[in-house]
Amino acid sequence: MRPGPVLIVACPRCGALARHGTLASGNTFGARLWSDGMLDAPMLPLPREVGRCTGCGKYYWLEAAREVGSVDAFADALRGARDEYSAVPWVEDVDEAGYYRALQEGLGSNRKKERLLRMRAWWRRNDAFREEGKAAPAGGAELPEACRLNLEALAGLLDGKKVDDRLLRAEVLRELGQFGAARAILASVRSPKHAGVARQLLALCEARDAGVRELRLEG
Ligand SMILES: [Zn+2]
Repeated sequence: MRPGPVLIVACPRCGALARHGTLASGNTFGARLWSDGMLDAPMLPLPREVGRCTGCGKYYWLEAAREVGSVDAFADALRGARDEYSAVPWVEDVDEAGYYRALQEGLGSNRKKERLLRMRAWWRRNDAFREEGKAAPAGGAELPEACRLNLEALAGLLDGKKVDDRLLRAEVLRELGQFGAARAILASVRSPKHAGVARQLLALCEARDAGVRELRLEG
């Protein structure tokens, strides 16, 4: 994994500056695939799409933020130098509740954006069950109201015909405990490339398990 430049961006609302790290290259070595579609790759972290401004406290899309400079943090560290933006804080990370607030603040202004925010909120919630020894309890954990509403809205957005979308929709329904509806979708997946995932999700439905689970990567 090789870090890229650190970008200095200005909040579109208040102009406060933030540092935002980028990635030059990575790989999927040691990656674990989860039933919610998240590929947990230590050498390829998820790109950060949204940040919270440390100035005004609002959320914004990083791609919509004006770039005012960049810093080669690695070269500076080697030189022992401090860059001219060293006082600028890192953009704040966004947790599950933060993605819900970002949606309330209107960042999900089209279906693609809303889907991304809802997916990230879902993955954030499931992150609690990805660590060794912290797997979701048998049958799955209870869903708080905000999470249930998020998954119901996400299921409505995953109405495409692409197999990946249908598998995700089935998984959302499974985690909502709607096993029959999930099974109907999974049973209709004919693509050989997706058969392994569909089979594993079907088995979880049969077991009436609504928890996020790690999948076996099958050839
Ligand atoms: Zn701001």
